[in-house]
Amino acid sequence: MNIEYANIDYTVESTLINKNELEHSKLRDKESSKDIKVVTAPAQISAVPPWSLAAEIGLEPGDKIIAINGNKLRDIMDFEFQFRQNDELEILIKKPDESEIIIELEKDPDDVLGVEFHTPLFNGVQECANKCPFCFIENQPYEQTRESLHLRDDDFRLSYLHGSYVTLTNLSFSDRKRIEELRPGPLYVSVHATDPEVRNKMLGRKKSPAIIDELKWLDSLGIPVHTQVVLCPEMNDGQHLLQTIKELYALKNSPVLSLAVVPVGLTKFHRGGLRRFSTDEAFVVVDMVQKWEAENPKHANFVFLSDEWFLMTHSPIPEQNYYGEYPQLEDGVGMTRLFLNEVEAELRSLEIGNREKGIGKKVSWINGSMSKPIVDQVSSKINQALTGIELKPICLDSLFWGTTNVSGLLTGNDIYSALRYVPKAMLGDLIIIPSVMLKDGTEIFLDDMSLQELETKLGLPCKKAWGARELIEVVTS
Ligand code: SF4
Repeated sequence: MNIEYANIDYTVESTLINKNELEHSKLRDKESSKDIKVVTAPAQISAVPPWSLAAEIGLEPGDKIIAINGNKLRDIMDFEFQFRQNDELEILIKKPDESEIIIELEKDPDDVLGVEFHTPLFNGVQECANKCPFCFIENQPYEQTRESLHLRDDDFRLSYLHGSYVTLTNLSFSDRKRIEELRPGPLYVSVHATDPEVRNKMLGRKKSPAIIDELKWLDSLGIPVHTQVVLCPEMNDGQHLLQTIKELYALKNSPVLSLAVVPVGLTKFHRGGLRRFSTDEAFVVVDMVQKWEAENPKHANFVFLSDEWFLMTHSPIPEQNYYGEYPQLEDGVGMTRLFLNEVEAELRSLEIGNREKGIGKKVSWINGSMSKPIVDQVSSKINQALTGIELKPICLDSLFWGTTNVSGLLTGNDIYSALRYVPKAMLGDLIIIPSVMLKDGTEIFLDDMSLQELETKLGLPCKKAWGARELIEVVTS
């Protein structure tokens, strides 16, 4: 490997892909008086491990990689492509003091630079160009929720990198060329309905490319796809859903790997004129999907009803074989089964000594009221297995969102309002907050209250826990 350094006196402009869509979004958002921001973040390095090639050539956190061999970098996919493609590289770096240098590097084909970036998208997130009547982001009080909840991303790169669902309605010509070149997969595509008219209605669009043609195009590129339907009463349910299932099943494995069916979730801020499914209607949906599955053994493990359907209808949570390899976990499909199984496994593997670790402890465990039957079941198992511990489930509705009762949407103020007058002796020594209520990797609730603030307000320690292992660890610690 040879390294050479040279000074450089030119700059590379940052670019925003799909400017038309951005303008379109801005215009539309002016109408709904919402301020959409597109974040631009050059390829700024956040970490350089000491063992890495990046450390060897003198890169440091805060440096920005502007271009490789003269090619500007739009995202981490460009970076990886450019780095891997050539063995002789000219890397244009901007230092934190704005000076620029070029590093000339000869590398082996398998070398990796080993840096981490602040964000995988260097030129900003591509926003959505739809106006779905059920959009959660569009229907929220912006001044009361954190900024990261305001961005309507619809970016195929995030679909590939993080499993976010995209609609494919905003692909520019250059996006399509990139997809053909990079073939990123699997992608996660919101179908909602295969009937073009129904799909357009679901997306709030006058027209969009036929989704079946789009899926066939992805198939021609060898890109596998997971799909989802957000089901709304009297829009895409009933025969429309059956048609969607059948038409997607006809593309099974080429390219459609799975289909998640998720009920629409609406809050009191909803302005799109929709309603939620009643319990009776939810039964009809579950019954219809299960009948289609029972028609043919080959139908198994293709359509996945999300956990809400079983919770809404108080039906037993399906066993593990229903979920196969849990391909739609990120979409709330199978989380409950996985959690129940993990609790069993964790309790089985607990050493005798650890079963008595939290003796005499009383702990409150907060959840949304929709999960009450599951949370009650798990608490009773834990209470039976751990000597002298009292794990007390507290299941709450969200006052903030009004009509929703899922754990992930409970805010700090919801919890504070519900518990502020409850005697401390009843709440116990500790309050456990599921991590799903907090922003990824932080201790901040949806309404920007921090865990620490809640702790101070309630005068009791609050600890977050992700999954069964952490729950039991926190209870016994
Ligand atoms: S595609 Fe998603 S973000 Fe865009 S309007 Fe529809 S629901 Fe909202």
